[in-house]
This record gives sequence, C-alpha cells and structure tokens, in this order.
Amino acid sequence: MLDGKVALVTGGSRGIGFAIAAALVNEHASVVVTGTNEARLSSARDKLGAKATAVRMDVRDYGSVEAGVKTVVDRFGGLDVLVNNAGIGIFKAVADTTPEEWNNIIGTNLTGVFHCSRAALPHIRARGGGWIINISSLAGKNPFPDGAAYCASKSGLNAFSEALMQEVRHDGIRVAYVMPGSVRTEFSGRSLGNDEWKLAPEDVAEAVSDLLRHPSRSLPSRVELRPAQPPRKG
Ligand code: NDP
Repeated sequence: MLDGKVALVTGGSRGIGFAIAAALVNEHASVVVTGTNEARLSSARDKLGAKATAVRMDVRDYGSVEAGVKTVVDRFGGLDVLVNNAGIGIFKAVADTTPEEWNNIIGTNLTGVFHCSRAALPHIRARGGGWIINISSLAGKNPFPDGAAYCASKSGLNAFSEALMQEVRHDGIRVAYVMPGSVRTEFSGRSLGNDEWKLAPEDVAEAVSDLLRHPSRSLPSRVELRPAQPPRKG
C-alpha cells in the first residue's frame, strides 16, 4: 500500500497513464494526473475520485512542467513517485516526416521525460528517496520502418533511464523503465478495435504496481512486457 505517498503520472488523463493512476489510487496514494487537454483531464479526475487531482502540464515546455510540479508539491507537501508516461506516436517514413513532427515526438517522449525528471528530482530527494518509472516501448529496442522518430525517442529514453538510474540510486531514488509491446489504447489516433490479443492498459499498470512493491534493496530497472499470444506471423 502507498498510504501517504504522492505520485505524479504524466499523460494520466487516458490510456495507459489513466490505468496507472487508477492502480495507484487503489493502493491509497495521492495521485496527480497531467495532460494537455482540459476536458479529458477533468473527466479523468471525476473517474479517479477524491484521491486524484488533475493538473494541466505540457511536458514539452519546461516552464509548464516546473509550474505543474510546484502545484503538486504545494498541495501535497512533497513528491514520491514520478511516472513519465506521456507520449505520442507519428508513424511515417523519414522522407515524409516534417521537422515539426520530429521535434514534437522527441520533445514529448524524450525531452519531456528529462523536463519532468529534472523538476521532480529535488523533491523526491527531499523525501529521502522514491521512484521514477518511465514508460518506454519495445520500439526502443526493436526499430521498424516508418517508426524512426518514435523508435529513436524510445531508444533515447532507455539510455536516459539507465544513466539516471546509476546517478541517483545511492540517494534511494530507484529509476526503472517499462517497455510494453502493443497495448489497446487510442494511441496515435488508433481506434480501440477488437484486438483482444493486445495488452490491456491495466497490464502495464500492474507492472508499475509490481515495481513499487519491491523492497528498498531491490531494483528491477528494466521490464519488457509483451502480449502473451500475438497473431502468428506469415
Ligand atoms: P494515449 O494516446 O492513449 O495517451 C497519451 C497521454 O499522453 C494522454 O493523456 C495525453 O494527454 C498525454 N500527452 C500527450 N502529449 C502530451 C504533452 N505534450 N504533455 C503532457 N501530456 C501529453 O497513449 P497510450 O496510453 O497508449 O501511451 C502512453 C505511453 O505508453 C506513451 O509513452 C507510449 O509511447 C507508450 N506505449 C504505448 C503503447 C501502445 O501500444 N499504446 C505501446 C508501448 C508504449 P492529452 O491528450 O491531454 O495531451
């Protein structure tokens, strides 16, 4: 149980982030979800109940992130767990990807994680330790055509996570990254469809909850999470 703990879940207004936020509320944490869309944020807050708060925060913008983290700390007195989940996907050939699209993907999926981690670290350190959990993707280790920007952002995130993990572990701050395969969400404008073989957002949330349950001596720093029975190829 996470009684007395404060968790910030970026991109917690829907999809995987929402499922993570719901799991943390279930464990009695105070949870703050963020996103850029006001309507989706208030709907998420209503569904998550009284232990949850929503804060508008664009991870691409360091000023917005600093203000969001300050709101959390002012309201709850500190921060123990940061889940860097906010992410976008644009899947196009390199020749068709505009510089704006490239910057948007890297700015959200990679620089956004740097922004949030940098703003959160002093507060997590002030609590004597805590967690930073980054939601990466198997795309970070298995690149594919039309995914150059996305795969590069997640591959960069994996390297960032491993470097940060070694920087802060002696301060009691555990850094881990979760690399899911396909998850049933509306990511990248997809419709939910009937892909029952895909992971559910709750499966990723379960992996995050599992990490948080580990005793303080133990750090599973990288988790690969796959659909157990994807369609056979060929
Ligand atoms: P969704 O599109 O369902 O949700 C994305 C969330 O991120 C929303 O809450 C959105 O809020 C938020 N977000 C997007 N841009 C920003 C921004 N600039 N600042 C703050 N919040 C932002 O995606 P998923 O739940 O599917 O994906 C979540 C994470 O999981 C991503 O990092 C993704 O790369 C990763 N992942 C997803 C997989 C999948 O198959 N779905 C597989 C592997 C990894 P708003 O709309 O309000 O901006």
